[in-house]
Amino acid sequence: MGETVFVLVLNAGSSSLKFNLFDMANEDSIAEGNAERIGLEDGILACTILGDKRKETLPLPDHKVALEFILERLQAAVLHDTPIHAVGHRVVHGGPKYGDSVLVTEEVIRDIEHFAMYAPLHNPANALGIRTAMTAFPDVPHVAVFDTAFHHNIPDHARIYGIPYDMSQKYGIRRYGFHGSSHSYVAARTAILLCRPLRALKIVTCHIGNGTSICAVGQGKSMDTSMGMTPLQGVIMGTRCGTIDPSVVEMLMEYEHLDYNGITNLLNKQSGLLGISGVSSDFREIEIAAENGNDRARLARDLLTYNVRQYIGAYATVLDGLDAITFTAGIGTHSTFVRAKVCSKLNFLGVKLDHDANENGTGERIISTPDSRVVVTVVPTNEELMIARETIR
Ligand code: ADP
Repeated sequence: MGETVFVLVLNAGSSSLKFNLFDMANEDSIAEGNAERIGLEDGILACTILGDKRKETLPLPDHKVALEFILERLQAAVLHDTPIHAVGHRVVHGGPKYGDSVLVTEEVIRDIEHFAMYAPLHNPANALGIRTAMTAFPDVPHVAVFDTAFHHNIPDHARIYGIPYDMSQKYGIRRYGFHGSSHSYVAARTAILLCRPLRALKIVTCHIGNGTSICAVGQGKSMDTSMGMTPLQGVIMGTRCGTIDPSVVEMLMEYEHLDYNGITNLLNKQSGLLGISGVSSDFREIEIAAENGNDRARLARDLLTYNVRQYIGAYATVLDGLDAITFTAGIGTHSTFVRAKVCSKLNFLGVKLDHDANENGTGERIISTPDSRVVVTVVPTNEELMIARETIR
């Protein structure tokens, strides 16, 4: 092996720890995996190291033990005492303070913990992951890369909510947006596919997965995005409701006798595709049920594509034009149906889908016809690589 620059990317959830090891000398992904069911006796560690897949069941009492197991596997298979140069951490919420990636200090960790007020399900776990990794690697730089950072400078009118202004200011209540690494990665790849400079393009990026967000990218920057102060706003998602009338919250709390935790759970975990269809949050299962004639699965599927189309229309207006639409994430990358349905009523914008390319290709590609005024692309996202690049930067 020549000169290596190993960067470890970590994404810590409350009971999981995802990892990727990159050699940034050539941006090669060397290893990836996930420790799941942390806190339990029968934890699961799945790793793919240099193409070799393995899955083990072992006790994972906490994140520290999970990280130790991961490092042991990496050490034996690829590192062989070669040092890791830096660790990049995915952090969901950077609050009002962080508009860029940052070298981790004790103050940064405390801020991440504090911003749990906006992301109670994610930020505490992200901070715990950082603390654990800093103990394991005390002598290398650790970098926090925020999902919110790409949207940090969206215009004021796109981020303000219509509540009393002093309360917005006092509590930092505003649109923050998420999936920033994904939107910025796929927008940059789209510019490359179009052989045009990113700063000259007006792109709507559609990250459609378990979580879904749409972003208006102009001059390479986020101009608006569908998620809000939390990842609950916007398009209907796997189990999240997306945008609803806030009065629904009050009504359900009263009539269903729900407290704060009850309503939070209902809107985050029992709504969306799952709530409407009663079938599943997994879009593949929704598609199968819809094809078999399940009306509620069809309704859920139709609402998803309708919402995405609504945002594309809105963001063509935000950007004052449109050069490209990009599909990414699990559903955006794989569902030919969703892409075809979303594009089917965008003729007025000059969108002409190449049905053959939509249905038959794989990977990064253009799926519109050569005479389509708006180019439609599919770009599998790579948030981990973006985090590794940010860490090096
Ligand atoms: P996350 O937001 O958790 O990263 P993903 O981006 O992996 O999620 O997206 C997961 C979603 O993608 C699931 O709803 C899954 O059903 C859907 N999906 C994955 N593969 C396909 C496929 N071949 N066809 C349709 N949907 C798919």
